[in-house]
Amino acid sequence: MRSVPLLLVAGAFPLSAVAHPALAQHRFPEPAPIQAGMAPPPGVYAPGIDVLHYDIEVGVSDTASWFAGRAKLRVALTAADSTLPLDFSGLAVDDVRLDGAEASASYEGGKLDVDLAGHGAGDTVSVLVAYHGTPDDGLFLGKDIRGKPVAFADDWPNRARFWFPSVDHPSDKATVTFTVHAPSRWKVVANGRLVKGPVPAAADAIGPPGDRSTWVWEEDVPIPTYTMVIGAADMVVDTVGEAACGHAPASKRPDGCATVSYWVFPHDTAAARVSFARGPQIVDFYTHLVGPFSYEKLANVQSATRFGGMENSSVIFYSQRPLDRGRNIEPTVAHEMAHQWFGDAVTEADWHHLWLSEGFATYFSALFFEHADGEASFRRIMQQNRLIYLNSDVTDRPVIDTEQDNLFALLDANSYQKGAWVLHMLRGVLGDSTFFSGIRAYYAAHRNGTALTRDLQAAMEKASGRNLEWFFREWLFEPGYPHFDVSWRWIPGSGSAGTAEVTVLQTQKASWPRFRMPVDIALERAGNEERRRRVTVDGPRSVFRIESGARPDSVAFDPGGWVLDEVTASGNGG
Ligand SMILES: [Zn+2]
Repeated sequence: MRSVPLLLVAGAFPLSAVAHPALAQHRFPEPAPIQAGMAPPPGVYAPGIDVLHYDIEVGVSDTASWFAGRAKLRVALTAADSTLPLDFSGLAVDDVRLDGAEASASYEGGKLDVDLAGHGAGDTVSVLVAYHGTPDDGLFLGKDIRGKPVAFADDWPNRARFWFPSVDHPSDKATVTFTVHAPSRWKVVANGRLVKGPVPAAADAIGPPGDRSTWVWEEDVPIPTYTMVIGAADMVVDTVGEAACGHAPASKRPDGCATVSYWVFPHDTAAARVSFARGPQIVDFYTHLVGPFSYEKLANVQSATRFGGMENSSVIFYSQRPLDRGRNIEPTVAHEMAHQWFGDAVTEADWHHLWLSEGFATYFSALFFEHADGEASFRRIMQQNRLIYLNSDVTDRPVIDTEQDNLFALLDANSYQKGAWVLHMLRGVLGDSTFFSGIRAYYAAHRNGTALTRDLQAAMEKASGRNLEWFFREWLFEPGYPHFDVSWRWIPGSGSAGTAEVTVLQTQKASWPRFRMPVDIALERAGNEERRRRVTVDGPRSVFRIESGARPDSVAFDPGGWVLDEVTASGNGG
């Protein structure tokens, strides 16, 4: 996603005060709300459980603030345990079934623990949960900014649990089917491919009654729960174009293309046409730079997400407001589309590695604007990213900040702007061909799966044949950035020749590392670059001697702009 959320669910909600229900129960009243966005304890999440598929039926209306749901989960048990702990909160549970039979369960503190009735490692079970109520979060049932009723899910980071039972963690990706009963005048969109609908809803379809239609969307590619969404509203749908042709295997079309479309409120089609016009070009750019597009289609949806944009797999949601004000949101579009590769197809297995999603989307969208609009555009965007990070209040924290347990707070200048710069620096260290072949290998190895930072490091080390431990450690696991104090003097030799002696001090905070970093130094004379040499600064003081046929007028430090740093030039030419 892009931009920090506008509202957090208040942290003041107490955990459920309801007494622990007897395990024999399979119906439960609506519990008290839990706090959204809290990081789980460190370690493997829900060990021994692998959700393979979510089959979720949802009934909504344009007159009720409540909905009904039936979620059927196919779950592989990989270790022996007596209960299946599902994340779920805020809704009344009407029925819990295991392989079709009434199941015992307990329900409190944001967990629905289903008794596995003797099933164990190696078994695959089917769990059905029927429920209803007004969601505390995750599924917005309300009005758009013009007062028209809408229904939109918004799950990041772990708010899917507020509208369907799940293993609500990015380490467990699964396929999903959504069957949605919604007002007939609405359009319904979700992940994957439309396999049925709209058709008139059955008279006994779940949820508030009314004139409703049924839509069935199916996502055949495993995706994280934080991108499993539905959107239902009065929307105008239009196709922007075809993209990733020959490189979108999930579309299962003979031409291998994926359709790029938009779904927007009727009064906002003009802004949508401008904002999404280059969508197919953006998708093609990432496809050819990184690898195949993973999903069946790519819908771009004006929605009630709290974020500027939310990269839901194959169905990106955008904030309703900028489009309603007629703004061109193309920078957000390019960012969210990059997430289809990084975040969605390759998902960070742990929240604290969020830069694998946000840093990548930030950097690859800058690369798109370089490709489409020229290098000056790229330089301007990277300079903005640099300044946002340098001026942020997170420079004393590392990018991989395992002590931060408020997941919303991870949406910061470390994950986005510094993360983008880490990629840019890695490219500067390795060179274009090695860097991009490493990126492609990383993507190919983890597409439709998950990854951690060490997986990226391994791919880059393999591509380059170099040990990059020092780079990943200092830039991602330690805080800050280097402040270089650069000075030089001329040591005359014979005739006009001599040696430029360049001294580089690292003067950043003592609590930040002294960085080891390859940097280019260029000798310039009469406006021309006479000589460029790559040196490696290391430690608090580095001295380099560069021979030259003539005394330079000036010495440029990192003239290509590859390093995230602050530079002070002192005593030049002395
Ligand atoms: Zn993002």
